[in-house]
Amino acid sequence: MAIVSPGVLRWGVMLVLFDIDATLISTSGVGMRCMVEAGRGLFGPGFHADGVAFAGRLDPLIIDDLLRVNGVPGVPGGAREREAMRLAYTDRLMQALRVPGVGRALPGVPSLLAGVERTDGMTMGLLTGNFESTGRLKLSACGIDDSRFKLCVWGDESPEDPPSREQLPGVALERYAAATGRRIDPTLAVIIGDTPHDVSCARAHGLRVIGVATGSYSTADLAGAGADRVVSDLSETARVLGWLTAWMQGSRDDFASAERLR
Ligand SMILES: [Mg+2]
Repeated sequence: MAIVSPGVLRWGVMLVLFDIDATLISTSGVGMRCMVEAGRGLFGPGFHADGVAFAGRLDPLIIDDLLRVNGVPGVPGGAREREAMRLAYTDRLMQALRVPGVGRALPGVPSLLAGVERTDGMTMGLLTGNFESTGRLKLSACGIDDSRFKLCVWGDESPEDPPSREQLPGVALERYAAATGRRIDPTLAVIIGDTPHDVSCARAHGLRVIGVATGSYSTADLAGAGADRVVSDLSETARVLGWLTAWMQGSRDDFASAERLR
């Protein structure tokens, strides 16, 4: 396989989209804690997260749920409260991530990212429930340079209201087309994520999906949700790169045989 040096400014035929939390990095639960602290700062010490699900969900939806279970007036639909929460959360997260050791890249992540980056034909991106402000903060706190991801879809970029993660892969496909002038075959776009939400949003658009059990879901959960492949963690770098390469190569072979049949 031809290898190109990292940073080459061209788009590959395959798009590899990573989720952030519990897929690339762990931040020891500070995201959750900072969101609740932001709510306490804004709405009082009784602000809580009881009954609110966090894993794999969009930050704007988590904030809406927090505001709702805490009976904040004007919610849902309170754009001002939502934005105040986002700002206060970002601020607290910035402080919390300064503590050494809070954030770390998960096993195998540095070598997998380097492998995808170096493989001719693959372009690396992000598809995450994080806001852009907090997603970039988290990555850099974990030693991952966010400028390496060429196409990013953030948690507040769903075109729908209420927002939905199911819409995000469609945004990624549109952006790829806008940047390259060509549509990508959805089976050449792959999501790597740790929750059934990552799996279902990929499935909704015909993308492929690799589940990684470094969050709160097992490989069996992720396979049951419909992931094409599952791994216990990304230290199985060679296996993951092998699957990606085989999918990319398989599609090229399909294309070549279709051409021959003409
Ligand atoms: Mg995640």
